[in-house]
Amino acid sequence: MFKRVLLKLSGEFLANENGFGISPDTTAKLARRIVDALEGTQVELAVVIGGGNLWRGARNGQGMDPATADYIGMLGTVMNAMALQDAMESAGQPTRVMTAIQMAAVAEPYIRRRAIRHLEKGRVVILGGGNGAPFFTTDTTSTLRALEIGADVVLMAKNGVDGVYDSDPRKNPEARFIPQATHLEVVEKRLEVMDATALTLCMDRGLPIVVFNIFQEGNLERLFRGERVGTLIQS
Ligand code: UDP
Repeated sequence: MFKRVLLKLSGEFLANENGFGISPDTTAKLARRIVDALEGTQVELAVVIGGGNLWRGARNGQGMDPATADYIGMLGTVMNAMALQDAMESAGQPTRVMTAIQMAAVAEPYIRRRAIRHLEKGRVVILGGGNGAPFFTTDTTSTLRALEIGADVVLMAKNGVDGVYDSDPRKNPEARFIPQATHLEVVEKRLEVMDATALTLCMDRGLPIVVFNIFQEGNLERLFRGERVGTLIQS
């Protein structure tokens, strides 16, 4: 049974059917899924939300100063964090948004000890603004914050894939599912889990990762109860 977990959500999970923007309806369904799964557990949950539905520095910011492009991306994640907060609170779950870039009018600044206190009080902490630094991703934010708050695991939520495969199952029907691997195997076989910086941090610190399909009914419930779902990566 996990005590404290960090859940990484891609920005695209909030998007409309074209994968863009924030759809209140899609966001509400996702929030309901998370709130329902939490019910009746003692799990303390921190969420890192991405911003790919709004802006990705490297993709959307071509021709711009790359740092500026990344800062725009970070601001996008704050918008997603606020949308997710709204939806989770509508579903009855107390939350706090904390941002790595100070934005006191809309959310609290991220302060590690304060985040932990919120978790202890049963609030879901939604972390916006990435690390607050360009040239990183929300994957690195997830591992960094998971280590900071003492999470037992990073849950990498996916849409449409059940975990890690030896090749892309959407392109290769012969792709083989990998139920379990070590961090080193993920690096050596270049398995698609998270970006290399994030993965190295997990490996160095022995932080377990679960890659799973969040849109498969019951998966989140089972994970929060400590059952095996998806692919487990540990040292
Ligand atoms: N970003 C950043 N530093 C961080 C986190 C994110 O610069 O610590 C920027 C970067 O431009 C990235 C964008 O924010 O492309 C959105 O985050 P990400 O691509 O990780 O979102 P996801 O793919 O998970 O939706």
